[in-house]
Amino acid sequence: MELDFIRWLREHVPSHPRAPLGLSDDAAIVSLAGQSNVILTIDTLTDGVDFRVGVDDPRRIGRQALAANLSDLAAMAARPLAAVISLVLPRDDTGASLKLAKELYEGLLPLAQEYDVAIAGGDTNTFDGPLVISVAALGQPTGRGPLTRSGGKPGDWLLVTGSLGGSILGHMFDFTPRVLEAIVLHERYELHAAIDISDGLALDASRLAAESGCGAMIFTNDVPIAAAAYQLADQEAAANREAAALMHALSDGQDFELLFAATPETAQTILRDSPLECAITHVGELATEPGLWQQHGAGQRQPLAPIGWRH
Ligand SMILES: [Mg+2]
Repeated sequence: MELDFIRWLREHVPSHPRAPLGLSDDAAIVSLAGQSNVILTIDTLTDGVDFRVGVDDPRRIGRQALAANLSDLAAMAARPLAAVISLVLPRDDTGASLKLAKELYEGLLPLAQEYDVAIAGGDTNTFDGPLVISVAALGQPTGRGPLTRSGGKPGDWLLVTGSLGGSILGHMFDFTPRVLEAIVLHERYELHAAIDISDGLALDASRLAAESGCGAMIFTNDVPIAAAAYQLADQEAAANREAAALMHALSDGQDFELLFAATPETAQTILRDSPLECAITHVGELATEPGLWQQHGAGQRQPLAPIGWRH
């Protein structure tokens, strides 16, 4: 199977000037013009954990695997350059695995093209187990350097792109990695810190705050709740629809939106300028006191558990 698949890959993975060897050699060459830093990230997705083979379209799974990496690059405000892809396919003699592998790539390649990512190489194996797909991607910071989780300061406002919750209804596959959005924001405004929300707003806000040596407060009335979160609340026949949808927005994984911190002045300028096509919402602030807090309207602040998707 592997030879067939490599032949297929060579025909289908487009050549890219940044990866001059193509898929011909033992390792890839990635050409970087005048770079002092590169950003490197890897994500591994597993059947039964991150998606379900036989239920989810393999093209969507392939897209998701690359898009999750692009989202991590976005969190650092890095422009994607190249990626390598490792597939571990379930062993079979019927050709189903070859078909699966091709379909994964058919979902992944258009996204690579859209974001100008050179597919520089990869590896394919089979075993007596479920599909595992691992993507590593290389990115380039903007002239301002990489954005990190650690630069937040007490009093900073926390802003979030898009809306949150209910990603399991489809957003987890079809999301737009906020690469262009992050670059626009980072180039135009002085952002202090950022993270992509892969594991839930509450958990990822607590991670950003902890790396910044701060605490975080979430204004629960202001969380932008996705329509899908309400849909889930309806499916669950939740007694309190609003509270159930908010819980999804706080804790569902795979939103892949951007959460970032900036001074109140900068944040207000961003909100006034509204420089992105997607919404930007003020959802909270960083605090001196460590921990995660929530405030409901003008009510008292209360502790908020860092709920979210744990791997
Ligand atoms: Mg991340």
